[in-house]
This record gives sequence, structure tokens and C-alpha cells, in this order.
Amino acid sequence: MIKFLDLKKINAQYQQELKEASNRVIDSGWYLLGQELSKFEENYANFCKTDYALGVANGLDALRLIFKAYIELGIMNEGDEIIVPANTYIASVLAISDNNLIPIFVEPNLQTYNLDSSIIEKYITSKTKGVLTVHLYGQISIDNRMLEICKKHNLKLIEDGAQSHGATFKDKVSGAIGDVGAHSFYPGKNLGALGDAGAVTTDDKDLYSTIKALRNYGSHKKYENLYQGLNSRLDEIQAAFLNVKLKYIEKDIAGRRAVADYYLKNINNSNIILPNLENQNSHVWHLFVIRTKKREELQEYLLKEGVQTLVHYPIPPHKQIAYKEFNNLSYVITESIHNEVISLPISAVLNIEDIEKIVTVINKW
Ligand SMILES: *Cc1c(COP(=O)(O)O)cnc(C)c1O
Repeated sequence: MIKFLDLKKINAQYQQELKEASNRVIDSGWYLLGQELSKFEENYANFCKTDYALGVANGLDALRLIFKAYIELGIMNEGDEIIVPANTYIASVLAISDNNLIPIFVEPNLQTYNLDSSIIEKYITSKTKGVLTVHLYGQISIDNRMLEICKKHNLKLIEDGAQSHGATFKDKVSGAIGDVGAHSFYPGKNLGALGDAGAVTTDDKDLYSTIKALRNYGSHKKYENLYQGLNSRLDEIQAAFLNVKLKYIEKDIAGRRAVADYYLKNINNSNIILPNLENQNSHVWHLFVIRTKKREELQEYLLKEGVQTLVHYPIPPHKQIAYKEFNNLSYVITESIHNEVISLPISAVLNIEDIEKIVTVINKW
């Protein structure tokens, strides 16, 4: 069976260094907000080319903390509206509603599956304070038009970069294109910890210092609290693992691009729609997502042939039981995407025989 994602094989590549890193933390006697985290924040800010990076507990918290900070800073207020793609993972929406902000869903572009900047303006009201754009599947979702709209209407542009570490738009890296970026290092992400972890990146000093306090009980100084904060810190041991894995992220991206390139050149089946990409640098292929009208049939067939696949995602946020208040809304493009997508295995540790087999099997279908 070709696994959808082989995390054990991915981390085995760095086994020695990861073990040394964990020993270093165990022996240090210091497990939170220490040297490993400071080093990771410096390394990750360099990688994203931002002034600041802050480690937090996970990607959802990175997003929650960004909105919470904008509220503390008086830039957003409860009841304000945030534009978000209807076609996203639910975490993007949870961060908005958790802060008593209102998600305003907007359809994606069917070529990129990302927020369609050409229709955003129709959804802007006097209550709109931000756009949370998601670089879904690893492809940058920001274009010049989106940047202009945010500037014109004075909206904060927040990037959900959970799937797009290292993807670029012109000379800017994911998480540095808008006002602020949220990152996830969930084990299965392109830059994955060995547990939960996340980060916020920004050039905005006020936002940085607010989130820095908010992630630690709202405290900037021990036992003094500026805000009603959260406990959302990135553990030293995860920071140490991430310091190891960050060194190899470019190699990982190159490996993913090679697999994607092979799929794009060799998959040839009229029942399948392949992903479109604007340019090579804008996509880091967290997921390789194809579309077909007969998704269930293809998934079952591939499983029988020994290829494990997943669906990202089967139910859009507005159709989830958790969001009953939005269940009556209809987003035709989003819903058709959710009915037709299927993700093929992709990673830098997939061997060439497996990649060839996947292509052969799909072309025979
Ligand atoms: C994974 C993911 C998140 C949440 O990250 P966690 O670290 O799992 O909390 C948010 N948004 C998107 C698009 C994701 O893929």
C-alpha cells in the first residue's frame, strides 16, 4: 500500500538530529519560553523575511491570537465582518467566530481553489475590517487586486499560511505578503513538528507585542497582566525539533515540486482535472488535489490498486453542524469543489516507483 503520508519516513531522515535536539532540551531543565524558542523565532522570521515571528501552540491559536490582538488594539470590534473563503479548512472560520467576529464567506476561483479577488468588493460593508485569505493546498492566494482592495478599504490582510511555508509572491514569502501571517506546524504540514505548534509572523511591532503578551496569559511581565490572554506557547522541545526541520525545508519543497511536476506532465485521463498553477514559486504543494465527477469511484479504485488518498475537504464550513446558522447559505462553486476533490500522495520521501505506479493506475482508470 502506498500511504497517503508517511510521517515516520519523513522524520526518520532527521532521526539523529531530532534525538540530539530532544536530549538537549531534556538536559537543559528549561521547557517553555527559552532559548530554543528564541532561536526558532529568529530563524523563522529570517525564513519568512519578516521583522518578527512568535511561536504559539498551534495554527488555530495563531489565527485566534491575531484577531484577539486586533480587538485589543481597537482595530477590530466584536460584530465586525471578516471576509474568508467559503472553501477552506474550518480552522480559518473558527478563529473568526471565536472572537465574536462575523465570517463573510466568498467563493473561490475554480482555477486556483483560492479566494476570488474579483468578487471580494461586492461583500465589503461598513463593518468589514479584514480579509482572511487562505493559501490553500500550498498555493499563494494573494494577487495585486486583493492588495489594492485591502488598501483602498483599509482592511487588514491576514494570511492563513498553514499549508504554504516558503511559497512566494514576487519577492515576498508566505506570511509576509499581507499584514500578518498565521502558520501551523502540525506534524503533517510541510514544516511539521512532532506534536502541535504554530507561529505568527508580521512586521507590525504593536501587533507583535500584543500577541506576545496574549499568548502568555496577557502578561508582558511576570504576574502583571495587560490583557485577558490565553496560554498558547510553543514548547521548547517542539521549537528544538523545528529548528532542525527548518534547515531542510527548501529540500522538502524541491522534492514536492518534483513529484507535482511528474504528476502534471504524466497524468493523462479525460475524467480528471489537474491543478492549475500561476507560477512555480507560488506553490509548495502541501497537497496535490485533482478533481473528478466520480470521486468516490476513483477513491475506491485507487485503494484497491494500493494507493491511499484523502479528501480535503468533504464538507465546507458553512455546511457543518457546528455552524447551523450558515447551513442555509449556498456557495455553488465551493460545494462542487467539496464534492469532486481528491488528494494524491505527495511528499519528498515518495519514491519514484511509487510515483510511476500512481500515474499508471490513474491513467488506466
Ligand atoms: C492545519 C490548518 C490550520 C490549523 O492548524 P493547527 O496547527 O492544526 O491548529 C488552519 N488553517 C489551515 C488552512 C490548515 O490547513
